[in-house]
Amino acid sequence: MKSIRDYRSDAVTLATFEMRQAMANAEVGDDFAGEDPTVKYLEDMSAQMFGKEAGLFVISATMANQIAMMTSTQRGDEVLVGEESHIYNMETGGLAALSGVQARPLRSLNGKFDLPGLQRAIRNRGLQLPITRVLCLENTYDLNLGIPLSQEYMSEISMLAHKYDLLVFLDGARIFNATTALKIEPKLLCQDIDVVQFSLCKGLSAPVGAILLGTKDFIEQARRVRQRIGGGMAQAGHMAAAGIVALQTMIVRIEDDHINAKRLAIELARFNESLVNVEKTLTNIVQINLGSVGKDALYLSNSLAEYGIKVKVVDPTTCRLVTHWGITVSDIDETIDTIVKILR
Ligand SMILES: *Cc1c(COP(=O)(O)O)cnc(C)c1O
Repeated sequence: MKSIRDYRSDAVTLATFEMRQAMANAEVGDDFAGEDPTVKYLEDMSAQMFGKEAGLFVISATMANQIAMMTSTQRGDEVLVGEESHIYNMETGGLAALSGVQARPLRSLNGKFDLPGLQRAIRNRGLQLPITRVLCLENTYDLNLGIPLSQEYMSEISMLAHKYDLLVFLDGARIFNATTALKIEPKLLCQDIDVVQFSLCKGLSAPVGAILLGTKDFIEQARRVRQRIGGGMAQAGHMAAAGIVALQTMIVRIEDDHINAKRLAIELARFNESLVNVEKTLTNIVQINLGSVGKDALYLSNSLAEYGIKVKVVDPTTCRLVTHWGITVSDIDETIDTIVKILR
């Protein structure tokens, strides 16, 4: 592994040696005609892991989210989304631009929607009212916090949504961080979810790709939508091959990222306890809050850059550090020392 000292995202990870070999040696065919055995293998393997009927290999988690919405809504529908969610904030207004739906953002407390609030947000049917069509969940929730949401919570909220005939969609870009933190199989965690997607290139380190999962019918329609927006690929098996290796070899090591994130959080809190909320550092994302030490986020990020360490500025007083396969324990210790030196 090559240490890259880049904490801006877990999407910066590089393909492993085994992935590169699998890509070179993949058996491929024309995926337009459904004839790429490696793509098929990855889609079936993913569907089995999550207990869903069928899967679709797409280019990115953003594409998976948008295809899911285009497949499940009509123009003018309303979809319920988390106020901090990726689909609402980070996809160039795709919900409006591609699906023509309106998003209704829901507040959350520690990543959880309040049930009565959610119930109130689901509209009655009426001539003047938009139709509430989809409940969008995200797990881990909040790209700047990475909160794992329990199976009990996801099932409770899905049951409520199903009572009103909503489709429950899960953006599981970082679902394996959630399954690792909660020590649960994806199949169980997602048992009451209708449609789910996960990323192959965040914690799992594949170079490209995400998988969308649902019923056979849903995925058949989603495949047409993927084609419509130019997401159909010919010999995609070269990329799917890396995805297969990602699922086979990279899930087990995500625990290391969580241990590293916790170590970073604990040591920074030892230096100054207002810098990090250790209890809320549950997966691979560490938030550094600089408000109380009178420094701004840009100062920390620029200072760290001088030492070759890259972090993301979330807002004027907050930085985000994401741990991943490219970050070693010694990187963590060096980063702790460097931050302490800068802020002392
Ligand atoms: C990163 C991320 C995405 C988008 O992933 P891409 O593959 O970069 O398009 C979607 N949802 C969540 C929660 C993410 O963290």
